[in-house]
Amino acid sequence: MTPSHPKIEQPRLGEPYLLTPGPLTTSYAVKEAMLKDWGSWDDDFRAMTRELRSSLLDLLGDGADAFDCVPMQGSGSFSVEAMLASFIPPEGKALVLANGAYGQRSAQTLQYLGRDHIVLDKGDYLPPRGDEVARILADDPAITHVVAIHCETSSGILNPVEEISEATYAAGRKLLIDSMSAFGAIELRPSDIRYEAMVSSANKCIEGVPGFGFIVARKNELEAAKGNSHSLSLDVHAQWAHMNKTGQWRFTPPTHVVAAFIEALRAHAAEGGVAGRGARYTRNRDVMVAGMREMGFETLLDNRWLSPIIVTFFCPADEKFVFDRFYNLMKDKGFIIYPGKLTVVDSFRVGCIGQMDEDVMRNVVRAAKESLEEMGVTNAAPPLRALEERAKLAA
Ligand SMILES: *Cc1c(COP(=O)(O)O)cnc(C)c1O
Repeated sequence: MTPSHPKIEQPRLGEPYLLTPGPLTTSYAVKEAMLKDWGSWDDDFRAMTRELRSSLLDLLGDGADAFDCVPMQGSGSFSVEAMLASFIPPEGKALVLANGAYGQRSAQTLQYLGRDHIVLDKGDYLPPRGDEVARILADDPAITHVVAIHCETSSGILNPVEEISEATYAAGRKLLIDSMSAFGAIELRPSDIRYEAMVSSANKCIEGVPGFGFIVARKNELEAAKGNSHSLSLDVHAQWAHMNKTGQWRFTPPTHVVAAFIEALRAHAAEGGVAGRGARYTRNRDVMVAGMREMGFETLLDNRWLSPIIVTFFCPADEKFVFDRFYNLMKDKGFIIYPGKLTVVDSFRVGCIGQMDEDVMRNVVRAAKESLEEMGVTNAAPPLRALEERAKLAA
């Protein structure tokens, strides 16, 4: 069967594939789009900003009319901070659902902002469930907002945002979603999942280069956000109002990054939008995970929780396995992998997003196999402790 997605190009000679969830491997067309300079006030660039905003809103599907899109300079965390500061009023209180580094970062951001909050800390990877959210909200009427991470990139778990949303709105509270690593590949339709605002960035599933993020929020929330932000540069309301009035960003926009992103959005549409992109990433994951499991590697999560974004594997128990060595052997073969972020057992991560298809993933598996052979590791099975840890998820 021929793949349905447009042709995937090899990175240029000598460039490794980035099996990391952003920055990731981009197409040549995306890189080439940056070979020009734009005046930030010029009509041509204003048209690009308009196209960017409307194309992103189109990805919401039904119900998009109630929302608007506000791009924001900086990395993804800048947009998360902008969202939290702008939509949670100073007198509000947030419940942060944390099961990894990005949930913790949202909590830390609220700490910096001086916003009252509590954290449901599920450890390294256990999913926050709807019934837990319902209980906490019932016990604490002061909570106004719930903050959820869509795909927690530090483990790769796809969190159950649908049941979280149901519990949140059943209790009359509001939901804000960090969909940084999921948006563009996993549906987040307001007609299916209710939320007030969500954030993502240029260098994740849309496959652009790093330089800005974007907040997609209900227009009534954008109106109401006036005066909430602690920060001039991260004020979502101010950026939105200025952009609607002038067509321009308030401060110097990352012009080349926007140009690259427009190209990336076109490729995203040509691939079949969110469904097409998600299907390619899912095949990437399935081919890669099957090949790794055949060698004895085990995933942290069972299939129900695996995202098509990034997958955590336990390091093999074999003493001859040394992660730094494995990393460098993989890099020599053209693949940059990611260290793990689990606190209890050694692990590493392999991303499925970026300009890669299942053929590339077969080569990733082959490279892992050769790397193990070069280290003298005959079985990639993890230590018993890792499997005991994983059993917590099933319990
Ligand atoms: C990438 C990412 C972010 C933002 O990280 P930056 O390094 O600031 O771009 C936030 N949340 C999640 C879930 C992410 O994957």
